[in-house]
Amino acid sequence: MRLAMNLNRRGFFASLAGIAGSLAAPRRLLAGKKSAAVSGFGQSGNPYEELGVPTVINCWGTVTVLGGSLIRPEVEAVMSQASRHFVRLLDLQAVAGQRIAQMLNLPAGYSALVTSGAAGAIQSGLAGVLTGSNQDFVKQLPDVSGMKSEVIIQQAHRNEYESQMRVTGARIVEVKTRDDLRKAVGERTAMMHFANYANAAGEIKVDEWASLAKQYNVPCFIDAAADTPPISRLSDYARMGYDLVAFSGGKAMRGPQCAGLLLGRADLISHALLNSSPNSPAVGRSMKVGKEEIVGMVKALELYLHEDFDALNRVWQARLDFISKQITSVPGVVTESYIPEIANHMPHMQITWDQKRIPITPERVSQLLAESKPQIVMAVNDDDRPGVLYMNSFNLQPGEEKIIAQQLVRIFRQEHSAS
Ligand SMILES: *Cc1c(COP(=O)(O)O)cnc(C)c1O
Repeated sequence: MRLAMNLNRRGFFASLAGIAGSLAAPRRLLAGKKSAAVSGFGQSGNPYEELGVPTVINCWGTVTVLGGSLIRPEVEAVMSQASRHFVRLLDLQAVAGQRIAQMLNLPAGYSALVTSGAAGAIQSGLAGVLTGSNQDFVKQLPDVSGMKSEVIIQQAHRNEYESQMRVTGARIVEVKTRDDLRKAVGERTAMMHFANYANAAGEIKVDEWASLAKQYNVPCFIDAAADTPPISRLSDYARMGYDLVAFSGGKAMRGPQCAGLLLGRADLISHALLNSSPNSPAVGRSMKVGKEEIVGMVKALELYLHEDFDALNRVWQARLDFISKQITSVPGVVTESYIPEIANHMPHMQITWDQKRIPITPERVSQLLAESKPQIVMAVNDDDRPGVLYMNSFNLQPGEEKIIAQQLVRIFRQEHSAS
């Protein structure tokens, strides 16, 4: 069996290894309710267990490799309503986009598009910037002949979602300093891209990047996929001057797992739609967004904007405090609460221990949790906390904090040199 050695948010392959744990987990006590209407496959209420793929307790966060977040029941209900009718999809996209822009109180001239996710928003947003309203260009991508085709990004912002940009045919141009940027901007420059989570790491910060883009008259894009809460962020970047903004719908918003938001200038939004499904010749045709996702995203946003975040924060923190209290009863174990500044801005907890008293690595603890029954996925290496076991409680279901605490206490006691 492979080891859960390097779970971090953006470590896709590493995380797969972590999840490839024992397939022989027992039925989960917490598994879904029995659904009377279904016979055959799905009759137990847990199709995953029927297939033999064990469900896991997700302490890691709203990561796609574990399924993101759990969709709100009301969103699911509206999606199910949507599934019973036909509708003109382009009309639906346009009206839903306007509704979303209104709900978010975006600046005048801004609209929105429901995409297949933030990654889909990155791709179709850029494709629209490249092609404009030119239908021939839409068909021509990823051949960018005749188009501006360079995307400028700071070195510290480069990340794995760059593939979604390159698939349009665009070329990535890396800069480090303001001076590099000034030299890089030219007649081939199509867009300036900003990865918001990397704000602290790059020389040019989020607001300056937008104002430099204005100065150079280049459209600017911000990937803010995991950057709500707080909800103010959903409109902050448009106000800051970003022409296009991407958010995930299936992370903290708990919308459809295969949905996201592209917010932006109405012209760029309509060009993004040209480069998306249902337009068959578009490169983005493969990122289909269904009528169900479109209305589901509207519903998720409505609910999200009315959320009581103080109350939620107390719940999230209380779960962590419960686990902390239990595990720090083992001598040598220490916890520390923190809230990441930008991405996944919600209570987190790192768990460390005196290696002399409890000689086990964080990676091994993560692996033992992944092998426990039920399986618990807890990651090592948060973005700026290398080699540290950490968790957040956003995705925990009632009672799961007890199971996590029990397993951790068991592991720490077992490994304790005094025992
Ligand atoms: C999650 C994430 C994405 C991808 O978002 P999806 O909604 O899963 O497509 C892109 N960029 C960043 C920074 C992310 O955290």
